Amino acid sequence: MSSKYRGRIAPTPTGYLHLGHARTFWIAMQRAQEAGGHLIYRDEDLDPLRCKPEFALGAVEDLRWFGCNWHEGPDVGGAYGPYRQSERHERFIDAWAKLKNEGFIYPCNKSRKDVARAAQAPHQEEEFVEPIYPEKWRPPYNHYKKVECPGASNWRFRLPQKRTIEFNDLRLGHCAFECLSDFGDFLVWRKDGVPAYELAVVVDDAAMEISEVVRGEDLLLSSARQLLLYEALELKAPDFFHTPLLSDMAGQRLAKRNQSLTLRELKHAGHSPNSLRLSKEWRTGLNP
Ligand code: GLU
Repeated sequence: MSSKYRGRIAPTPTGYLHLGHARTFWIAMQRAQEAGGHLIYRDEDLDPLRCKPEFALGAVEDLRWFGCNWHEGPDVGGAYGPYRQSERHERFIDAWAKLKNEGFIYPCNKSRKDVARAAQAPHQEEEFVEPIYPEKWRPPYNHYKKVECPGASNWRFRLPQKRTIEFNDLRLGHCAFECLSDFGDFLVWRKDGVPAYELAVVVDDAAMEISEVVRGEDLLLSSARQLLLYEALELKAPDFFHTPLLSDMAGQRLAKRNQSLTLRELKHAGHSPNSLRLSKEWRTGLNP
């Protein structure tokens, strides 16, 4: 009997992948293998300015070198290539229209800076806390219900009042985030004409029938946001498994922006995938 497990790895090609990505994708691959399921590769290449084809190609090459493999995708020269979000625009527009017609989202022309300035975020020092979009800036529903396309506006999801989003993470257990306190009205569409991450990922995970999402712990709040989108779009939500974040030697979390060691640099420095998987950095935060 074939397993119903369907997982995915979904890098954003805005830079070369680092060891933290490799570890998350490795865990995703192992979980798919253990469940006898399928793993899909999806290139999250929606940001027209920051995503570059060389990073998309680099990610595939580096992950293959590292030993990751996946089981589904368009045929590229006899191997499975990634699905590309940039080729799936129509699905995203349909989701935008449903959310707009049912009053879940509204246009917004405030910048991130405006929001940060207006919201007196009390816990700005805490890593995952964001400034909350002021409710008084929401336009009345009848101001935009006839709009036929997203246009050159950002669109935000109108969070419900007094609602706690709860889910059972398969590694962390019970998680709970309070709407309008832990997170505010979030972006679903960007004024440069592409869906925001939260919307694109939900539409694609549902369309690809993903049963379990494996991703870094830094995206826990995103999972809460995404559960609201699954509900509004009447789609089945997957299970979640959030992986611990990997730190460098100095104890700093690895991220593209802090120029951490990339798989590419590690390879050129003579490390083998196996030695990297035995390294102290790799094992930190994982169960023995
Ligand atoms: N593309 C996202 C990133 O690279 C991850 C998406 C996800 O796993 O949901 O951060």
